[in-house]
Amino acid sequence: MSEILVLGAGMVGVSTALALQERGHDVTIIDRNSPGRETSYGNAGLIQTEAVEPYAMPLAPGALMQIALGRGYDVKWNIPGLLSQAGAVWAYAKNSLPSAHRRASQTWGRLIRQSTERHGPLVEASGADNIIRRDGYVEIHRTPKKMEKARKAAERFRTEFGVEARLLDGKELRALEPAIKIEVEGATHWTDSWNCSDPGGLVARYAALFERRGGRVLNGDAGDLHRKGAAWVADEAEAEHAVVALGPWSPMMLGRFGLNVPMVYKRGYHRHYHMDAPPHHPIADFGNSVVLSPMRRGLRIATAAELTRNPRLTPPQLSHGEAAARELFDIGAPVEAEPWTGRRPCMPDMLPVVGRVPDQENLWAHFGHGHQGFTLGPVTAEILADELDGGDGWPELQPDRLKRATG
Ligand SMILES: Cc1cc2nc3c(=O)[nH]c(=O)nc-3n(C[C@H](O)[C@H](O)[C@H](O)COP(=O)(O)OP(=O)(O)OC[C@H]3O[C@@H](n4cnc5c(N)ncnc54)[C@H](O)[C@@H]3O)c2cc1C
Repeated sequence: MSEILVLGAGMVGVSTALALQERGHDVTIIDRNSPGRETSYGNAGLIQTEAVEPYAMPLAPGALMQIALGRGYDVKWNIPGLLSQAGAVWAYAKNSLPSAHRRASQTWGRLIRQSTERHGPLVEASGADNIIRRDGYVEIHRTPKKMEKARKAAERFRTEFGVEARLLDGKELRALEPAIKIEVEGATHWTDSWNCSDPGGLVARYAALFERRGGRVLNGDAGDLHRKGAAWVADEAEAEHAVVALGPWSPMMLGRFGLNVPMVYKRGYHRHYHMDAPPHHPIADFGNSVVLSPMRRGLRIATAAELTRNPRLTPPQLSHGEAAARELFDIGAPVEAEPWTGRRPCMPDMLPVVGRVPDQENLWAHFGHGHQGFTLGPVTAEILADELDGGDGWPELQPDRLKRATG
């Protein structure tokens, strides 16, 4: 019997297993898939140090009207998708008001600022250096008004959080990224963030490191997690403790153990495109709600949020993103026949859930990292491992806040 069973082998689960193993625990991971094949596969590959504020819901009347009318590409929705998570979306909206958002940002900023420091030793030990770039990413601004707003944001992030950024005019941007073929007003080069050309591959390498260090990765279904005496059992694996790190599937599991988890499931899509001379950095074109990341398989176009239960065959956000990308770059045909899709596990208060599950001995929660779980996995893994070893954890991340919120 292992001491600890980690359910889920995404970035969050694998990082948890590594952090616990580092502290001398005997750990087994269980996943129905290979490590890093779900949400942690499909993201834009950014390991962010600059994203010091979690994504708030746009609440300005103009932005809300655009979303309601189905215009714009930041948030798309349909009625079944919205109704299935209406309570969580409403709570997310309330928490997007300035004072609540500022409070969440205090915690979020402290987490995000540790990300490269936590990934660094894992990248090195897992031999993943060849899929990591440490020279930031570029956020383009197409109009003078957007550029001015970006200037203010960069200044604020520098003074409040110590974030490094270089503001580029159109000429400097062309020098940095000659593949861009049109005139663009300017850009922010977030210089201290990292990025990965194979996100699923990075998780797989972290998992291989965990195995080399003596850990076990089992292929199995954790859905039947149950108690057998004092032990936790999933599939045929048994352990004293269990950690639920199932990303967007976590609420389904925890509902069985008395914890009602409201989650906003923000669906995203990506597709790769052939490209002879890709950009040197990921290019965030937030005006068109896409991130364009040079990856091993081609240029990955990753989209913003869609609140739908079922994926669309031809997602409008991806078609729009492709058009925006073609305007910027010479890109070729899609690599895959169909786009990839997955759901960001977003908590209504915008903070991940990390800590002891109330009223369930030796059951732990670690999920809900929203837009930045690929970045934050190793950061919150340290917090969880410390708490499991008798530390205090971070009160603002504790699962019992969900009990308080829902009564
Ligand atoms: C389009 C898009 C772009 C994004 N871009 C970024 C980015 O640039 N940077 C960033 O930091 N984040 C980004 N994110 C967010 C990030 O990808 C997620 O927050 C993160 O991957 C969540 O990791 P996880 O380990 O919690 O979940 P997952 O990676 O989904 O892992 C959960 C695991 O649980 C397993 N599982 C589920 N049910 C069972 C079961 N019953 N039995 C066994 N196993 C089970 C699954 O197989 C899976 O492996 C993006 C997300 C999307 C959708």
